[in-house]
Amino acid sequence: MTALTERLTALIRAEGPMRMDSFMGLCLMHPEHGYYTTRDPLGAAGDFITSPEISQMFGELLGLALVQSWMDQGRPGRFALAELGPGRGTLMADMLRATRGVPGFHAALSVHLVEASPVLRARQADLLGQSGITWHDRAEDLPDAPLFVVANEFFDALPIRQLERSGAGWREHVVGLRDGALVPELEAVKTVPALAHRLDDTKDGDVVEICPAAAPVIDALGLRIAAHGGAAIIVDYGDWRSLGDTLQALRAQRPTPVLDAPGEADLTAHVDFEALARAVPDGCKHSRITPQGVFLERLGITARAQTLAKSLSGAKLDAHVAAHRRLTAPGEMGTLFKVMALYPETTGPPPGLET
Ligand code: SAH
Repeated sequence: MTALTERLTALIRAEGPMRMDSFMGLCLMHPEHGYYTTRDPLGAAGDFITSPEISQMFGELLGLALVQSWMDQGRPGRFALAELGPGRGTLMADMLRATRGVPGFHAALSVHLVEASPVLRARQADLLGQSGITWHDRAEDLPDAPLFVVANEFFDALPIRQLERSGAGWREHVVGLRDGALVPELEAVKTVPALAHRLDDTKDGDVVEICPAAAPVIDALGLRIAAHGGAAIIVDYGDWRSLGDTLQALRAQRPTPVLDAPGEADLTAHVDFEALARAVPDGCKHSRITPQGVFLERLGITARAQTLAKSLSGAKLDAHVAAHRRLTAPGEMGTLFKVMALYPETTGPPPGLET
């Protein structure tokens, strides 16, 4: 039994069955035994691999998309370039490198990273250095300034609740105990105001997920973008409206049962982009969601891939071609992953996205 399983078992014994968001939050971010707090899970040898770790082109194109928004908004003289959940810092490093030649951009920016894991903060400092970078625990702590921000695979790591339609209301998926082992249980709940609109399009037995931590993050970004300008580019897997149980645990790039290895496996759930959109505050708009493959093609990934290919050969060229396909092909990350931007209501969306 892992140290975290012991803690969870004791907690459930004392307080009764635990909601999924509490379980997921402790598994990922428990200060001593959490999955993210104790390790760097990224990269080819890790539990999962993300777009910036697959190819430098991802960060380069996102960086240049933010540059275009910055120019469209009159090149604000001081702004925050921010990232939520920067992992190893690869995306930020690629964005900074790709934008170095843009006159005035680097002189105007300060870098802000929202990261809860001490291990990953150290990885980010190794790659990016410490000077000119500020780390924050929460998006709510970002400065009150024009904000150009990216978040790749951040929202899928925020804890979710799972509710199952039952008659005129909902029952909640919780974690209980049987014979000393963690087991799934269903518990009656009173009303769930956040799901009032889902009573119309669900039937008995349907599972709907809600992410209570997501709306405050969107609000924090949107308030700054509305007041001072900026843009947020959010990339994640998911779709417009949550339906079904999407919670999954990954260990060594393989699915594993969610309750089996608390703190030892990554836990993620599909992002409900409609719920993010509903949290956007006045003065800020959101783009339509666009598949990652379409977005990257519109930003010119094929031209960039061809340029990079010129200096590659053999196995390196094969890996580069495979990486391009992996980021954009429909069967790979091209359609499962979606992109949505926030931007001031007085401007248009970043390039590659539509109102
Ligand atoms: N964006 C990176 C890493 C994705 S993994 C990439 O694309 O490679 C998720 C990241 O979000 C990790 O850095 C993790 O530590 C961070 N994270 C997860 N939950 C968080 C929370 N509640 N607050 C701050 N950071 C969080």
